[in-house]
Amino acid sequence: MLKLAVPIERHPNEKRVSITPDCISPLKKMGFTVFIEKNAGYNSSFSDELYLKAGAKICKTQKELFKNAALIIKIQRPFKDMKINEFNLIESKSSFLSMIYSNRFKSDFSLLKKTSSNIFAMEMMPRISRAQSMDVLSSQSNLSGYKAVVDAASIYNKAFPLMMTSAGTVAPAKVLIIGAGVAGLQAIATAKRLGAVVFCFDVRKATKEQVESLGGNFIEVDDESSGESETGYAKEMSTKYKKKQSLLLAENITKMDIVITTALIPGKNAPILITKKMVKSMKPGSIIVDLASEFGGNCELTKHGKILDTDTCKIVGPFNLPSTVSQDASRLYSKNILNFLKNSCIDGKFNDFNWDDELVKGTCINRNKTLNKKL
Ligand code: NAD
Repeated sequence: MLKLAVPIERHPNEKRVSITPDCISPLKKMGFTVFIEKNAGYNSSFSDELYLKAGAKICKTQKELFKNAALIIKIQRPFKDMKINEFNLIESKSSFLSMIYSNRFKSDFSLLKKTSSNIFAMEMMPRISRAQSMDVLSSQSNLSGYKAVVDAASIYNKAFPLMMTSAGTVAPAKVLIIGAGVAGLQAIATAKRLGAVVFCFDVRKATKEQVESLGGNFIEVDDESSGESETGYAKEMSTKYKKKQSLLLAENITKMDIVITTALIPGKNAPILITKKMVKSMKPGSIIVDLASEFGGNCELTKHGKILDTDTCKIVGPFNLPSTVSQDASRLYSKNILNFLKNSCIDGKFNDFNWDDELVKGTCINRNKTLNKKL
């Protein structure tokens, strides 16, 4: 029996679950028996009954769950506090899959390595078209982009759409999205649906067409240099470019009601694009939602996990937005995992990871090569 274990997510504010009931049947067909820790899906509205109905088994204790597991699937890295230590429960013959961020959570990663298990960091999925359906960063960022706009709208003290009423006209909100990656493009689409006039800025010129196809207005820096690296991601720009960009932002930000920032450069702190001075120049009542806050923020004043009230605007540094739409976020994450496991199947059955495959190589950050049976 290939045991696939799904623990409760115990990190603060984490409401997602790694495997949802709709994936149980396909996992069974692949040869897995799926064990869910009691109440693991509770915070995403997936009851134990739903899992049982789908063909999973429920484990009452963590010990029982982790014992002899071929795969342990989580959203967050293992959890440890005074009472619970998941690191101690992971067996060397298990494979552990979750988002790991080994460079940011170094001590957790070294504890995890001590288990000698195979470790897969799902955030390292190569960004190639074959891997799109397994890309957890995309599936979760997409929801973050949506939720950032909805959250901004709910704390904004004006309306988004143009309204012509007998009592007068309500002007549409002006929304600026900085960074047109996965989260930014979804933010544009969401703000447009709510009736805002949307502007967007990105260093990658290739995004202009994508922005415009969603009905956004692209703000362009008058500079020939390309912001795109060979990997398709953004790169750090020259000082000359940064100056031009800063002037352009300073000029535009004074006209905006809502600013959603999503600008990231892989492996680096988020670039600071909105200075204190720019914040001061914004319209009273405006909102900044800084989706890069986890990586230091795109706004100089952002505090991760906090809402800062300034004289002009509120600056939101959201903490784990995908978890606030946990039902959909879990469903998409679960599908990403299912597709990743399918990728190693032979004739529809999973026996072991296809260790020669670039997606397996790209995500596996620790491998137990001593195992006879490779799982
Ligand atoms: P990301 O989260 O790394 O960055 C968000 C956006 O910020 C990017 O568009 C980037 O260009 C922009 N940015 C960086 N510095 C900036 C600055 N100073 N000013 C303004 N904008 C700035 O990006 P992402 O959403 O992960 O996507 C990055 C690329 O990967 C995109 O081209 C996307 O289409 C591609 N992608 C490919 C796959 C796949 O093929 N499997 C999956 C997802 C994304």
